[in-house]
Amino acid sequence: MAEQGSRLEKGQALSLYLEADFFDLAAAAHERRMEIHPGNVVTYVVDRNINYSNVCVCGCKFCAFYRRPGQEGGFVLSREELGRKIEETLALGGTQILLQGSHHPDLDLSFYEDLLAFIKKQYPGIHIHGFSPPEIIHFAEVSSQDPEEVLKRLMHSGLDSIPGGGAEILVDRVRKLVSPNKCSAGRWLQVMRSAHRLGLRTTATMMFGHRETPGERVEHLFALRELQDETGGFTAFIPWTFQPDNTRLSAERTTSVEYLRTLALSRIVLDNFPNLQVSWVTMGAKIGQLGLFFGANDFGSTMIEENVVAASGVDFKMSRQEIEDTIQEAGFIPCQRRMDYSPV
Ligand code: SF4
Repeated sequence: MAEQGSRLEKGQALSLYLEADFFDLAAAAHERRMEIHPGNVVTYVVDRNINYSNVCVCGCKFCAFYRRPGQEGGFVLSREELGRKIEETLALGGTQILLQGSHHPDLDLSFYEDLLAFIKKQYPGIHIHGFSPPEIIHFAEVSSQDPEEVLKRLMHSGLDSIPGGGAEILVDRVRKLVSPNKCSAGRWLQVMRSAHRLGLRTTATMMFGHRETPGERVEHLFALRELQDETGGFTAFIPWTFQPDNTRLSAERTTSVEYLRTLALSRIVLDNFPNLQVSWVTMGAKIGQLGLFFGANDFGSTMIEENVVAASGVDFKMSRQEIEDTIQEAGFIPCQRRMDYSPV
């Protein structure tokens, strides 16, 4: 293991991932977590994923959610449905929505500006955690705008923060295999850099367990650590596992051990990320609970609605009470938070 206080290098990180004893790795990650968040609090957010559309021209091989233009089952959410979903979220004590969609070929920037303005006018208290770097780049291309200009306009219309979706693995070799039409790793990072410079906070994710090597997972973590050194704009990191069912990408399902090792490694490498989330949506509540001893300090979201992972046949559901009970059973104190991790 790296010396106490020194910063891990790539080679060391890979050796840790491949060779460290499972429980030593957990202990090291948990120790880092307790240094960053002394005390026993585990946070979670009450929110809902709202997908404004599933019509997509990107065609990522790992995606079971999208429909091609004209294909049966494609939708663009109406204002009425959107309003109903937000009202249900507010009624359940929700503070934010995670607004995400697809690469719709015919919707230009004004559609998204109007969407945000509508939400902020009707529900001024709701935090809009919306879009992802590939969506921002897609909007820019459809509207012949610069991505930074797109960010400014979306912020002006009410965008509050950006989720770290579409990162998959931030290595172009892997991206070409699993999502050849999506933006490059460099462009993903550049959108996040611009967002942070403009004052938007964002999260970062990693979807792993498909075509990447362990070394490429490490590359991903180091790319994020470098950008965070530069901007400090990431609030949290959320690694989650690829779910192969109903997709065009065959892969063995990632084991719980592999998930937990990756989670622990993330906590150790990403020493400049304040928060690490478990992914109970893909791993289930019990592994989520274990994740709290592998470096994670946050239980993620109640996901009042979730469609993207559910489309691959994985449909773990937890109510707010179940999340609180799960955290408590693991020996921690649950605390509802906002996107910026301030308590509600
Ligand atoms: S992951 Fe997103 S961009 Fe890729 S096909 Fe699915 S909806 Fe489209």
